[in-house]
Amino acid sequence: MRCLAIDIGGTKIASALVENNQISQRQQVATPTENVSVEMQKTLATIVNGYQNQFDFVAVASTGIINKGILTALNPKNLGGLDQFPLKYAIANHTDKPVLLLNDVQAAAYAEFQNERENDIQNFAFITVSTGVGGGIILNKTLLTEPNGIAGHIGHSLADPNGEICGCGRQGCVEAIASGRAIQRATESWETPCLPKQVFELFRQNEPKATQIIHRSAKAIANLVADLVISLDIQKIVIGGSVGLAEGYLPLVKNYINQMPSIYGCEVELAYYQGDAGLIGAAKWGENVLQNH
Ligand SMILES: [Zn+2]
Repeated sequence: MRCLAIDIGGTKIASALVENNQISQRQQVATPTENVSVEMQKTLATIVNGYQNQFDFVAVASTGIINKGILTALNPKNLGGLDQFPLKYAIANHTDKPVLLLNDVQAAAYAEFQNERENDIQNFAFITVSTGVGGGIILNKTLLTEPNGIAGHIGHSLADPNGEICGCGRQGCVEAIASGRAIQRATESWETPCLPKQVFELFRQNEPKATQIIHRSAKAIANLVADLVISLDIQKIVIGGSVGLAEGYLPLVKNYINQMPSIYGCEVELAYYQGDAGLIGAAKWGENVLQNH
């Protein structure tokens, strides 16, 4: 089956045809930032019409929570204020083919999980540590997307009850401590505030303040791993995202995991896909859903 896969992120919208995990005719446009609802409808219409008659179904991976075809965000800032957007309708209006939607990190988790099938992994999670912190959970080899599209938003689990207020409104979320945005914010009191990339450079030079910030992030992610293992019997976790993939980060996370009793640990690896996991995962998942219904 040939899929038109669309990946809607906070800064870009990627689209491509996907068949047997192979991507073709990939395109990318900027995510609208003004008059977002109307512009998003137009952008999606242009994308679907551009691939007309070349696909059997559409699979959309989007940042945010997707519930019964409606897109909302835990942190509305991530989507330029887009709230309660009729995502399914915006696409189904331009094609008579099936349209399937899921969260972008859930899609990436599904893509990563395909590499684990031969290892007979049953319970698996993907954590992305990037501008925010997100995740996708696979239990009994099934990606959790129902009933409300919330599963996997593990960046909004608790890291520190006295921590900072998260963009979602809750105090002390993992995202408010471990994410790229949090790393950047922690440098705001410095003489020269830094981007996460620069904080990592300083961390690799053993600069004490940068080291403390990166350790705090890695420790929060290690605790998130432990919470997933102990609550869901997760066997393997893959970590991605710009922070997660930064040199020196994963060893730190593993160190903190190793300091806990061994029952809290599991196999932890870097993500396999770097850029197109959302497109590939959405297509693969969509195909699976259509074949089983
Ligand atoms: Zn939060």
